[in-house]
Amino acid sequence: MTMKRKVAILGATGAVGQRFIQLLQDHPWFQIEVLAASERSAGKKYRDACPWLMETELPKKIADMPVVNADVASVEQAGAVDLVFSSLPGDLAFPVEEQFGALYPVFSKASAHRMDKDVPLIIPEINPDHINMVKVQQNLRGWKGFITTDPNCSTIQLAITLKPLMQFGLKQVMVSTMQALSGAGYPGVASLDIIDNVIPFISGEEEKMETEALKILGKYNSGNVQNADFQLSASCNRVNVTDGHLESVFVKLEQNPTMEEIEEAFIKFQGEPQRLKLPSAPVNPIVVRHEKNRPQPRFDRDIGNGMSVIVGRIRKDPIMTFKYMCLGHNTLRGAAGGGILSAELYVSKGMA
Ligand code: NAP
Repeated sequence: MTMKRKVAILGATGAVGQRFIQLLQDHPWFQIEVLAASERSAGKKYRDACPWLMETELPKKIADMPVVNADVASVEQAGAVDLVFSSLPGDLAFPVEEQFGALYPVFSKASAHRMDKDVPLIIPEINPDHINMVKVQQNLRGWKGFITTDPNCSTIQLAITLKPLMQFGLKQVMVSTMQALSGAGYPGVASLDIIDNVIPFISGEEEKMETEALKILGKYNSGNVQNADFQLSASCNRVNVTDGHLESVFVKLEQNPTMEEIEEAFIKFQGEPQRLKLPSAPVNPIVVRHEKNRPQPRFDRDIGNGMSVIVGRIRKDPIMTFKYMCLGHNTLRGAAGGGILSAELYVSKGMA
């Protein structure tokens, strides 16, 4: 990679935007050029626009950068960019990402375009061939750029663990989530709602999990995705944890592999990012822990720089074939880290 790509971050002041900034520091291929957010932040220096919530220091260069409005004219006035990362709220992302997509490659963390027929929904380890759908999109829409999306945070970690199970014939999956507070953005859930409590409802989350996983694990054929053919039922809960979603998963398979064979399938799973050695790729997409009380969000979410999915408690189930727990860092693998890994895939294929 000779020249670094200059990037704009839309939604740069939010929970995901801050992770983008943190992860793009010293990135070998990308360099932050423009920071955009709402008109509440526009015109301010980044340091004054939002409280910095990351564990690492806010870099001085970023702190002094101006925040601009998230529209094409304002971003272009602030700097020349090659590609765009979007972590805008879902409803707003729909028109704004289309504005940018007409001109630039847009890597979106928002839900707005995920299920569009001509928009890829990517997890680089699972469906790297789906990126070719942007060519169909460019033809259909007459765009120079494109929109490509990543799944919802709770879907990403689940889908990564389901992919190696497909060799055994996936029939039915039931999942119950325990989702972290940062998944609701900043300031997110009110403290008086969540302290000493669990909230058994996250708006739209179950529907996203039940549809997105089938598209990601589906087959790409002549411009279309044929959804994967298994049933998925999700039940989503918000818990009092800062980062890291924990999921309890029950799976019915066509075959009857041993627990050792299932564990081996998880451990051996590798994808295109590992083969290409993309900068943000974890060495192991799935890490299996054997302690009877792991994975736990506080202890395990940062394994593989927060890009690995941690599996534990693989065991037989009296109703389904087997069950397990999985944990993923929702703002790293589930959001900004996943978005950057997708962008690395497109760049490595000469498509961005
Ligand atoms: P957040 O903390 O609420 O941040 C929202 C960002 O969007 C802020 O930068 C905000 O700017 C900006 N924004 C809000 N209204 C705007 C407007 N009218 N015009 C332009 N910018 C506006 O939310 P988040 O958690 O980072 O989530 C961002 C997106 O990523 C959402 O679509 C979410 O569903 C998705 N996502 C989140 C996670 C996660 O774990 N949090 C994971 C996967 C996907 P101001 O500061 O100026 O208001």
